[in-house]
Amino acid sequence: MILIDGKKVSKEIREDIAEKVLPLKDSGKNVPGLVTILVGENAASQVYVNMKAKACTKLGMLSKIETLPAETTEEDLLNLVKSYNENPDFHGILVQLPLPKHISEDKVIETISPAKDVDGFHPISTGNMVIGKETFLPCTPYGVVELLKRYNIETKGKHVVVVGRSNIVGKPVANMLMQKKEGANAIVTVVHSAAPDISYFTKQADILIAAMGVPEFIKADMVKEGVVVIDVGTNRVDAPDTEKGYRLTGDVDFENVSKKASYISPSPGGVGPMTITMLLYNTYQAYLKIENAG
Ligand code: NAP
Repeated sequence: MILIDGKKVSKEIREDIAEKVLPLKDSGKNVPGLVTILVGENAASQVYVNMKAKACTKLGMLSKIETLPAETTEEDLLNLVKSYNENPDFHGILVQLPLPKHISEDKVIETISPAKDVDGFHPISTGNMVIGKETFLPCTPYGVVELLKRYNIETKGKHVVVVGRSNIVGKPVANMLMQKKEGANAIVTVVHSAAPDISYFTKQADILIAAMGVPEFIKADMVKEGVVVIDVGTNRVDAPDTEKGYRLTGDVDFENVSKKASYISPSPGGVGPMTITMLLYNTYQAYLKIENAG
């Protein structure tokens, strides 16, 4: 069994980006810039936003966090987004979700200029992804595809079974892997909670992508010998004897499934670190497009 090490791959990609960005910074040129907009005081969101900003700065990118109070009106938020659409110092705009209930997430996402949609959630980005055009790909599913690529795992003609159909993981990863392209071209099945017998499908998987949010749901008897497993799940489970009182675990029973798998990406330590890495990658790509067009 080969462990798919998301931390290692992330480090390699980030080093590649830093190699290109740090010289720009040293020569006083405009560098890639990412603005992250946070509304309200969601503790988890604050942690994510800080992690993203820190990762940007480490690579020599410009990073800014706009923190707005929970009572911010939709109009004010839309105006702020519009101002960053026009701001030449920032090539990527990320609005941290979830937003307070009185603000329409759809409206906010649709207001981000598609040229700066580094999170890949704008309907134009989604549409381009579905029809196979070059676009910003959403960061977590992009991380999954990149891990498969970096470990030279053949996807062409393979049966990929995705468990979960959310807009942020399941649907996009299924779409990306079915494209008639290198690093994709798979036969994709998407399973969700309406499936009467999930294991009927998971047992057929050459590559199994678990993105359901149910701790250690995928057991060894649900997969075939030699399967490639990518565990996207990131779930908190009680662990009273630890300092934090909880531990993180994936959607896959790692201990037993890893005995049958040919490759397995664990959680934590697999897809998790790739999400921010692909955001940094998208921001660098946005920078190249915008700077080269100007
Ligand atoms: P989500 O929006 O809750 O979607 C879960 C999907 O799994 C839904 O499509 C649901 O089916 C399906 N599902 C749930 N229970 C099921 C069951 N018992 N059998 C079959 N299908 C089932 O979750 P998400 O946002 O996609 O996230 C999924 C997991 O990935 C979570 O653990 C999350 O924390 C993790 N995640 C990690 C990262 C990262 O590593 N950076 C990023 C995003 C998400 P229905 O559609 O029928 O309800």
